Amino acid sequence: MAQTPTVRTAGKSGPAEWRNWAGNVRARPTRVVTPASVGELQEAVRRASEEGLRVKAVGTGHSFTAAAATDGVLVRPQALAGIKEVDRAAGTVTVAAGTVLKDLNLALAAQGLSLTNMGDIMEQTVSGATSTGTHGTGRESASIAAQIRALELVTADGRLLHCSDKENREVFAAARLGIGALGIVTSLTFAVEPLFFLTAREEPMGFDRVTAEFDEHVAENEHFEFYWFPHTGNCNTKRNNRSQGPAAPPGPVSAWIEDELLSNGVFQAVNSIGRAVPAAIPGIAKVASRALSARTYTDIPYKVFTSPRRVRFVEMEYALPRENAMAALRELKATVERSGLRISFPVEVRTAPADDITLSTASGRETAYIAVHMYRGTPYRAYFTAAERIFTEYGGRPHWGKVHTRDAEYLAGVYPRFGEFAALRDRLDPDRLFGNDYLRRVLGA
Ligand SMILES: Cc1cc2nc3c(=O)[nH]c(=O)nc-3n(C[C@H](O)[C@H](O)[C@H](O)COP(=O)(O)OP(=O)(O)OC[C@H]3O[C@@H](n4cnc5c(N)ncnc54)[C@H](O)[C@@H]3O)c2cc1C
Repeated sequence: MAQTPTVRTAGKSGPAEWRNWAGNVRARPTRVVTPASVGELQEAVRRASEEGLRVKAVGTGHSFTAAAATDGVLVRPQALAGIKEVDRAAGTVTVAAGTVLKDLNLALAAQGLSLTNMGDIMEQTVSGATSTGTHGTGRESASIAAQIRALELVTADGRLLHCSDKENREVFAAARLGIGALGIVTSLTFAVEPLFFLTAREEPMGFDRVTAEFDEHVAENEHFEFYWFPHTGNCNTKRNNRSQGPAAPPGPVSAWIEDELLSNGVFQAVNSIGRAVPAAIPGIAKVASRALSARTYTDIPYKVFTSPRRVRFVEMEYALPRENAMAALRELKATVERSGLRISFPVEVRTAPADDITLSTASGRETAYIAVHMYRGTPYRAYFTAAERIFTEYGGRPHWGKVHTRDAEYLAGVYPRFGEFAALRDRLDPDRLFGNDYLRRVLGA
């Protein structure tokens, strides 16, 4: 699977078209640049500003929103990538902003180190992932942005700002998750720890039981998540907890059946059938969700947390106050059952502890995430609209990189520190050099 977004040239002199991973966002930048140094990036920012063009850094285009779209200068990440420094005494790694998470994970593992927590895949850039608040699931450990200890940012006036708890603190508080609005991140320093083992326990469980016991499962496990299969009362749970090891990965046959055949090959076929014959989906869902069996395996973190996602989809995900999440999920189930909707993708539920990042979806509150997905090419508006109505009634905050329809007025109501971010943006980027249509909608002018 080509994981990177496409930038294709329409004709010899025509503008290039940029597309995201899901194919639901397209943009036509005026110019594409690939700076190989911070100096080159600063020069590109200055030149764009002089020409009255806007500037946007992109990652690998894994956002489902138009967060990375631009009609101005598109800054590609590929030449500003790689590990800059591992500081074992401080327990940190510093990487260039365009580094892909997979490269970071592999390099850290080779040195006996690891991030503490991560999301479901590792194809995104470190800057793209953190800029939208990419997260996995955790009781104490939070999003990837929450693991940042320092960062460097090129601002609209072309300066390079060093930010940490000690330097430019107010910028650090916000720019760890800046949605590309505050400047272009050039390097990130993450906290790392000695490589450890996680034992994963995957286990099918009924919807009523898992929702009734949700708080206990979250309390008893370092990383708890579950998937509910719409049109059924079936869920699959996953608990990851630290263990002594040694590594005991799923056998090659079991891994191939679960991760390749069921999660990608058969799932792709099931979704294609479902797209052609939506009425078949509930029946397929009942059979498919029962095909899952319990399994336990142990491995290093990135091998347990992440897996390949070859079936393309579009996604909406909301962060809810943890105590409201199961009520919202039950409402979603009732809504799907009442409607004529046919949903072939499981609904994913994860958690995060409260963090201190200005516009983090878990900022200042214990959080549970509910994510809904639709197979690419299937109409998704009716389902997402119904889900979003429920999520917003419970004070939900949309993932910055996943489909949603919220605007600045709504978001100011669910983020107590929204005004703080807006004031910082006014100071750092008064002319909206880093603006685009998405930021105008979610942040206001
Ligand atoms: C298959 C799949 C699985 C996913 N799994 C998860 C998951 O488990 N958890 C989760 O939370 N999310 C998940 N996501 C969402 C994804 O992690 C985010 O949308 C993330 O932002 C994508 O990173 P990217 O490198 O592709 O960035 P892009 O989508 O290209 O860009 C995202 C934003 O970052 C900004 N940006 C990029 N580089 C810079 C920079 N150098 N300086 C300033 N701003 C910058 C862009 O301008 C844009 O606003 C998933 C998405 C897909 C497609």
